[in-house]
Amino acid sequence: MIASMDQMRVREFSTWFLLVSTFAAFSFGWSERISCDIQCDVRIYNTSSGPVADKLNVHLVPHTHDDVGWLKTVDQYFVGSNNSIQVAAVQYILDSVISALQADPNRKFIYVEQAFFQRWWRQQTSTTKKAVRKLVDRGQLEFINGGWCMHDEASTHYIDMIDQTTLGHRYIKEQFGKVPRIGWQIDPFGHSAVQAYLLGAEVGFDAVFFARADYQDVLQRRKDRTMEAIWRGSKSLGSSAQIFAGILANHYEPPDGFSFDIGSSNPPVQDDSELFDYNLEERVNLFVQRAQEQAKEFRTNHLMWTMGDDFAYEYAHTWFKQLDKLVHYVNKDGRVNAFYSTPSLYVDMKEASNETWPLKLDDYFPYADSENGYWTGYFTSRPALKGYVRKLSAYLQVARQLELIVGRKDLGLSSDSLEEALAVLQHHDGVSGTEQQHVASDYTKRLFLASVESESLINAALAQLITGKSRLAGYVGRLQMVTNEISNNYGHQAIKETGSSSMNFQQCPLSNISYCPPSEADLTGKSLAVIAYNPLGWERKETVRITVSDYKLDVFDSSGNLVPSQIIPVSQTSTKLRERHLRSIQKPIVSDEPLFELLFECSTPPLGYSTYYVKPSQNDSYSAEHSLIEENIQSHGAHAKSNSVQFTFSSSTGLLERLKRKDGVEVSLEQSFCWYNASDGNTEETRGQASGAYVFRPNTSSCFALGYNVTTSSVKGSLVEEVHQQLTSWVSQVVRVFKDSENAEVEFTVGPIPFEDQLGKEIVTKLSTDLESNGVFYTDSNGRDFIKRVRDYRSDWELEVHEEIAGNYYPVNSGIFLSDNSTDFSILVDRSIGGSSISDGELELMVHRRLLHDDGKGVAEALNETTCLDDSSTCEGLVVRGTFLIDVRPVNESAFWRRNLIQRKLFPLQLVFSVVNDEDGQFNISEYSAMEIGYQLPPNVALVTLQELHDSSVLLRLAHLFEIHEDDLWSNVAVVNLQNIFANHKIKKVEELSLSANQKKSEMKVKQWQIENDDMEGVRYIRSSGFLEDGYQIELRPMEIRTFSVTLE
Ligand SMILES: [Zn+2]
Repeated sequence: MIASMDQMRVREFSTWFLLVSTFAAFSFGWSERISCDIQCDVRIYNTSSGPVADKLNVHLVPHTHDDVGWLKTVDQYFVGSNNSIQVAAVQYILDSVISALQADPNRKFIYVEQAFFQRWWRQQTSTTKKAVRKLVDRGQLEFINGGWCMHDEASTHYIDMIDQTTLGHRYIKEQFGKVPRIGWQIDPFGHSAVQAYLLGAEVGFDAVFFARADYQDVLQRRKDRTMEAIWRGSKSLGSSAQIFAGILANHYEPPDGFSFDIGSSNPPVQDDSELFDYNLEERVNLFVQRAQEQAKEFRTNHLMWTMGDDFAYEYAHTWFKQLDKLVHYVNKDGRVNAFYSTPSLYVDMKEASNETWPLKLDDYFPYADSENGYWTGYFTSRPALKGYVRKLSAYLQVARQLELIVGRKDLGLSSDSLEEALAVLQHHDGVSGTEQQHVASDYTKRLFLASVESESLINAALAQLITGKSRLAGYVGRLQMVTNEISNNYGHQAIKETGSSSMNFQQCPLSNISYCPPSEADLTGKSLAVIAYNPLGWERKETVRITVSDYKLDVFDSSGNLVPSQIIPVSQTSTKLRERHLRSIQKPIVSDEPLFELLFECSTPPLGYSTYYVKPSQNDSYSAEHSLIEENIQSHGAHAKSNSVQFTFSSSTGLLERLKRKDGVEVSLEQSFCWYNASDGNTEETRGQASGAYVFRPNTSSCFALGYNVTTSSVKGSLVEEVHQQLTSWVSQVVRVFKDSENAEVEFTVGPIPFEDQLGKEIVTKLSTDLESNGVFYTDSNGRDFIKRVRDYRSDWELEVHEEIAGNYYPVNSGIFLSDNSTDFSILVDRSIGGSSISDGELELMVHRRLLHDDGKGVAEALNETTCLDDSSTCEGLVVRGTFLIDVRPVNESAFWRRNLIQRKLFPLQLVFSVVNDEDGQFNISEYSAMEIGYQLPPNVALVTLQELHDSSVLLRLAHLFEIHEDDLWSNVAVVNLQNIFANHKIKKVEELSLSANQKKSEMKVKQWQIENDDMEGVRYIRSSGFLEDGYQIELRPMEIRTFSVTLE
């Protein structure tokens, strides 16, 4: 064959190039074939290096960031399906990384997300498992972070964060005997104080690393070399719960030019001088240059390079082959020292350096990546999903408690599936609301399916308890005794009649749309047993509300005493909402008859239940007080009052106007709803940034008022007074004041947010008082510590304000408040939400958002949630219903109110229903507490976890609920006797563990750091440990959470 002219030119050129490049190699000093296997074709690279004391050390950390759902569902990411959306397959990542690690004992890799690792692990042969264990033992494969997912830090609750971390850590401990040492929160969009001190230090991590912090903050930190600091997230625990915290140098990618994923445009290291594009010198020079640049911004002569990215290493060979070469040639060059490493080794070197470190307090919220890019929209994105997660989180605790009380083995059902589903949802593109719509649907499906198993578990466990047929059979006598005595404590006799055997227990997960088939059933000749389970460690007395189809009702306690009750017609708004959603899920509407809400007072013992009976009245002398809805009353100035507070509404606008307390405190309290017009990002002024799933970017600072024409109606009664307000066709609310409470509960219903004007809308409610708050307000960190926020201010740097609304938004998990130093104004929420104080005395909450544009942060979809009716042909914007509590009271009473109500709101009474025939009598054990008779936890202590593990041990966590100096009385040390929590079992053994329960507290090692300008140096934070002399009594100091493994006899 004759070569064409073109081919000849190529040959000439290559001969020339070969000469030049060979010369270049010579001049660089690497002309020799490095080391040769038998035939000198195979190059062997020396990858065995480690840290060198007097050199600049580059720790190469190979890693992959695997989202537990985002653009694809968690299972699609694992198996690698739906690749038209994103090429990503975790199973191949793990397959190929394991092979690559086996090929060279110097190579290292870190793995993070247990949701994926466990999916992969259970498919492996025993040979592979053995090989992987060896890699883990050699330190080649290291698990860091190690939770089920890399949880979000803004919209997650601390209990869920602990649970999902514990789940992952438990597997790692069981399978490999290892304890993760490093927090690796590289992608979440802002970082919480609770992450640092609780899910970091208290878990036993040596450090936490992350990539995202405010761009202004990072700019300053690069200059000051304060990218790495010692972070004290808790005022109460101070230096006793501090952690080394590092912002990564290059997001979580390699430095520019060193990505080697398949398909990367960065050049590989071409060290074969016989081929074109020989680039060894160039590559090594760039490596050294990048290291020297980074060294200017970091302290000590150790640098970390994150060699990986999203779903990287699907073909691990492309990375490792290049990294082998870089290690070999860079060290040969000798200007810097490069080696395979892990964050653990990196932190060990940082500790050994004797460097002093800056101090970091509070948190890294909010996160902005540009002048107009404040990631504060996701604090509210997908509010219904956020609400569902919060609701099921409490439900999981109920299921776990009952599983323990009745016995895991005996039930044949388990709360494990719900634990796992909730763990998946904590992912930073899960509960955060920043996933694609089909992924959100997948998440919801997972939650729902898992909740069904827990629902059966709860029903079965209660049936066993109520009939006395549980594994506790041997304890039934004792249970009966407990029941009797508790009943006596509650002022009535226990029920001893033999109960019905045909118990059909049901629950009403759709009670938020007033749908509850068992309580709506025709009760002729029957009664409705309502079992109220209380998951708190405290007694409680509350008004419960159920939907019924008749109003001639009597309510009895289990001793047969009439209980005060009130009947309210179900409002038109609720009826519409019910019909709409029943159509959307194609559930039959039980009856067309008008429905009512039955309210009655309910007392429950701690960690137990009580039973109430709702019966149709035989004649017209029913006891339920019948309240009518009084329509169109706004012109008279509506009000709703309890024994100690009155809320007054304006006669002109119809909106909430004033609050007056019995103690004489009177404040102006005005409420309004308004909407921010979401920026579409396309106009000149908005410089390209649209509001989207992550980013909140209002077009202007104006919030456009809703509800110029409010329709008001009211309900009066002896248990509750309500004011119902219809602000627009799609915004309404009920303000409820219960007889014995000093606060109001607001139930809002917002949606479908209209779209016809082609304007994205972010719906906000504002509540303003005349309190002089001077720009200061407080928001909670993941439901735990309250953090001081100052409008238009950051404590770490001089803030340039570019977004006066979005830049002042913070995550609100449990509550937000402000104060004028004598009076506090607080709002407590039922789910994670975004909130702020834009004007003095005023708090605002973003309750819902519907957007037309993507914000360009990766999700590639506009946040536009809809509900489809009937045959899915009619889809309308999502309606969101939620509640919040509003309260005004003197500063010295306010912390106790907040902490107490947060617990009650977090763990509502769980209602279970059973329709029983009159002739069957009542249940054997109508009232029960798992705790010692008459015992309840102190008001400043909460039960965080009570769970029977697979080995029959009990995992117990108790939390002190107050911060130091938060309350004069309740910020003191609390004492709990653990034996009192287990009335029916004697404790055999108790061991204190780390927060994620994977190591003994006594064996935890803490790194020592020197801190510059430490004002608190020398302050010793006393921590509780061990037991008081008297048996199993323990102490808890402010903000402490203590974790125990309890073995029961
Ligand atoms: Zn991610």
